Amino acid sequence: MSTRQVAMVMDLNKCLGCQTCTVACKRLWTRREGMAHMWWNSVNTQPGTGTPHGWEHMGGGFKDGEAQPGHRPTVSEYGKAWDFNHQEVAFGGKPDAFLKPEGGDPGKGPNWDEDIGGGEYPNSNYFYLPRICNHCTHPACLKACPRKSISKREEDGIVLIDEDRCRGYRFCQEACPYKKIYYNELAGVSEKCIFCFPRIDEGVTTACSRQCPGRVRFVGYLDDPAGPIHKLVHQHKVALPLHAEYGTQPNVYYVPPMSPPRLDAEGNPTDEPRVPTEYLVSLFGPRVVEVLEHLKAERARAAAGETSEVLDLLISRKWLDLFGPFTKHPRETEGAKLSHAAKGAPL
Ligand code: SF4
Ligand code: SF4
Ligand code: SF4
Repeated sequence: MSTRQVAMVMDLNKCLGCQTCTVACKRLWTRREGMAHMWWNSVNTQPGTGTPHGWEHMGGGFKDGEAQPGHRPTVSEYGKAWDFNHQEVAFGGKPDAFLKPEGGDPGKGPNWDEDIGGGEYPNSNYFYLPRICNHCTHPACLKACPRKSISKREEDGIVLIDEDRCRGYRFCQEACPYKKIYYNELAGVSEKCIFCFPRIDEGVTTACSRQCPGRVRFVGYLDDPAGPIHKLVHQHKVALPLHAEYGTQPNVYYVPPMSPPRLDAEGNPTDEPRVPTEYLVSLFGPRVVEVLEHLKAERARAAAGETSEVLDLLISRKWLDLFGPFTKHPRETEGAKLSHAAKGAPL
């Protein structure tokens, strides 16, 4: 058991789907050989199949305290990033050429169903769902590893893989219900999001949160009443875990997306939200209904000129307020552990 838990809240009402977080993580942590397919941070359009395809139905986690069997995602289920005809469009001297995928499987790839979403015109709808390892309180990956290569840090609950101990058995991949562990074929070890622990150790927030232009990601300790995480999860209760039924007690929380009203056959707005509530319940559980009602009521208060503490918190006019105690600039740190940043990776 950890004495404290560091956590993240992502406000889905502000995510632009820009993938800056994905690129920030990639440039900082997954540029070594064998890591090309690793997206420790991914952002998918919902409703959609996600990355890897159909991960929500691949098993793992716990039910009634018992570990559940899980599927190990295949390379094809992750899909390969597509190549595009950039050369032809940019330098081919053909004014009519347009960008199109070349090679690969056009039915698969990271984020292949981007912006498709659900529903039918005029009620088509989608939102973006960023995902990282949840640094779970009961990590199924840790329990499944026969080598005891996976540990949860006592001081902040960050879940890490010791690559010197790992022998690449990949039971962790089967056990993680969020399918957030990747296998490095060249190194023969499993790898995953490290919650940027070298940055956290120096009071710097994670790269994915610091680089996010949407101010989507809050970082802090769950038990810090002065920090944003405690306020959003415990005080205002507007942030919910994803698929809590998987039984691992994830420590990434989401403020669910509000949506415009559904239109009836004549095109008039109804009382129903565009993103179906039952779909959001399938992701965030039944409490999502009261959270959305609460957010709507707070929005009405703000529209009436009253103060809404929770909306002020979510809007985050002061950028550094997002990061609780982790507000240091990377340049203010010792820098040794952040040498990647010195080489041009994101700050
Ligand atoms: Fe382990 Fe998966 Fe939980 Fe991360 S999300 S701690 S990999 S079970
Ligand atoms: Fe990557 Fe750090 Fe974000 Fe994890 S917390 S997804 S390691 S940038
Ligand atoms: Fe962009 Fe932030 Fe959404 Fe990532 S979480 S896709 S950086 S808006």
